[in-house]
Amino acid sequence: MKILVVEDEAKVAEFLKKGLEEQGNFVEVAYDGFMGEKLALRNEYDIMILDVILPSINGYELCRRIREKNTSVPILMLTALGTTEDKITGFDSGADDYLVKPFEFEELLARIRALVKRSTGVVHTSAVIKVADLELNIDKKTAKRGDKTIELTAKEFALLEFLMKNKGRVLSRADIAEKVWDITFDTGTNVVDVYINILRKKLDKDFEKKLIHTRIGMGYTVDDNN
Ligand code: CA
Repeated sequence: MKILVVEDEAKVAEFLKKGLEEQGNFVEVAYDGFMGEKLALRNEYDIMILDVILPSINGYELCRRIREKNTSVPILMLTALGTTEDKITGFDSGADDYLVKPFEFEELLARIRALVKRSTGVVHTSAVIKVADLELNIDKKTAKRGDKTIELTAKEFALLEFLMKNKGRVLSRADIAEKVWDITFDTGTNVVDVYINILRKKLDKDFEKKLIHTRIGMGYTVDDNN
């Protein structure tokens, strides 16, 4: 795979480059946001790994700019800022996943595998799924609630698709983590809750009828009759 790493800390950048190349990947490193943007827009990569705190253009802004031109490349953010707010900022900017520093290299590899696998050829049977006035078009990768178009990142879309295909069924965090992220849930991540919150903000917040429901102690469900 061809991987872009944007990371200003030379030590971390070297560690990533060396480790990923040992796995048979081709890695290019940019040490600031400006250089990162140039490379990201000029070359094709299978995945991009962006640090958040970078000179010249920060990781969130960089991610936003890349997404304007390239909606499909998987983007993984590396963040030392572990709060939910920061993660949401990352996802809003178009990142597909995040990893909090410091992280295990094995964990990074697992996330990369999951993201790349998800972004390449999943075959769907029916093109449109509907729950109440929420409509998901699997072919076009678009979402609409009523007349309102809802912008979703690749990962948000995958999560919503999984929930909607299982309409009325309560899905545990472990089910969701495994099916949508290809990770086992005991990795200490709250990624499922973070994404559910994002979907709520995008899908339910402006509507009286809520479609995403929490079943305390059990998980989440999408349903149109509570
Ligand atoms: Ca940094």
